[in-house]
Amino acid sequence: MPHSLRIAIVGGGIGGLTAALALRARGLHVSVFEQAEVLREIGAGVSIHPNAARLLRRVGLEDQLQKIGAPISGIVLRTSQGDPIATPAGPATPAFSRGDQGYNVHRADFLNLLFDALPKGTVTLGHRCIQLKEEADRVRISFANGASAEADVVIGADGIRSVVQREIGLQSRPTSEGIMAYRGLIPAERLSWASDLKDPALWLGSGRSFLLYPVARGRLINMVAFVPTDTDSEESWSAPGDLKALAAEYAGWDKPVQDTINSLEETFRWGIYDRAPLPYWSTGRIALMGDAAHPMVPHIGQGAGQSIEDGFTLAVLLEGCAAKDVADRLDLYQKLRLERTSNVQALAREAGKLYRSEHENPSEKAVRLREWMAQGKWVFEHDAEKAAADALLDHLR
Ligand SMILES: Cc1cc2nc3c(=O)[nH]c(=O)nc-3n(C[C@H](O)[C@H](O)[C@H](O)COP(=O)(O)OP(=O)(O)OC[C@H]3O[C@@H](n4cnc5c(N)ncnc54)[C@H](O)[C@@H]3O)c2cc1C
Repeated sequence: MPHSLRIAIVGGGIGGLTAALALRARGLHVSVFEQAEVLREIGAGVSIHPNAARLLRRVGLEDQLQKIGAPISGIVLRTSQGDPIATPAGPATPAFSRGDQGYNVHRADFLNLLFDALPKGTVTLGHRCIQLKEEADRVRISFANGASAEADVVIGADGIRSVVQREIGLQSRPTSEGIMAYRGLIPAERLSWASDLKDPALWLGSGRSFLLYPVARGRLINMVAFVPTDTDSEESWSAPGDLKALAAEYAGWDKPVQDTINSLEETFRWGIYDRAPLPYWSTGRIALMGDAAHPMVPHIGQGAGQSIEDGFTLAVLLEGCAAKDVADRLDLYQKLRLERTSNVQALAREAGKLYRSEHENPSEKAVRLREWMAQGKWVFEHDAEKAAADALLDHLR
């Protein structure tokens, strides 16, 4: 009987927890070490598009996703004054979810769902990784609380300020996109029209856009309002924002935009930063995933989706892997995922440019947006498990 690999995941965010689920589903032994003392999330929505939802479904999470999510079937585009540009039923609107439902979820609900789906003891809280030491046959992990652990494989799922990234000799540098977003969550009962908001709605204006979508089965409405900025906003998900400044950015826009802003009790500022793809993601027994490997701008809602794809890819490649083959499999993982995520990063970057572009006529912008979305089908249709299984077969031939 071959020795079963001990896999340690540093970071218990969306990427780390889904990787743990995917690895366990293939019989691998996994421990997750998360720095937070308690699982806590800021109020924000996150999109789980079909490319990610189809993987979660395979580990039995469809019912739970339905319970917490708002299904996505397309996007409604409007001018800043509210004139419709496209609806989900319209001929040119992309069908995100044909045959494969995606969902918008509240981050806290989603993280709780993932945490609850793992057996007790899989996640150890209050463990901030500070150092990794790679040896010929194992990796030693040191934590800020003085504890240590060892594993055959370490996966760095520790987000944009990744310690694991640093420990394998990398440092990705953020560059501002010249925009920031205000974010917020509003109880749907405060908005008289909220029950009509089924699909994400995006208002497009000069240099600005305003996105609303339901989460928590429609109990909450998630707002992301992109505006230009010439100052370096903090790269944070939770820096407090100024409601008056937000209102001034959208003065004269459509009524639901104004209603939403007037209903907010608080808003958060989110500086949008981009990063170039890293030159490599793995060394011997250590690999990066999620935002630690490929942080991306949020314009196509793929941050979570790509981290979920990473986890399922790792699970396929590490299933049945002998300890001596770890470096080879992690190398294959890097080859497979670096290319795809670099392409997704580039698409998200292009989408951002389109959002920000100045067009005299908003429909012109919408037409380009729809064309661009149709081209982006490859993002949503991808099956990461199948791609990994095919690549492994080829590799072993
Ligand atoms: C509040 C929030 C809102 C977001 N909103 C959007 C959005 O609207 N659109 C979008 O595209 N993307 C968004 N993202 C990004 C998206 O969620 C991520 O791209 C995706 O979830 C992948 O994240 P991850 O698991 O790789 O990293 P993260 O979600 O950042 O998780 C990293 C985890 O590692 C832990 N950690 C960090 N350092 C250490 C350490 N040294 N030791 C142990 N644990 C450590 C952190 O506490 C955290 O739990 C958001 C992220 C956050 C946090």
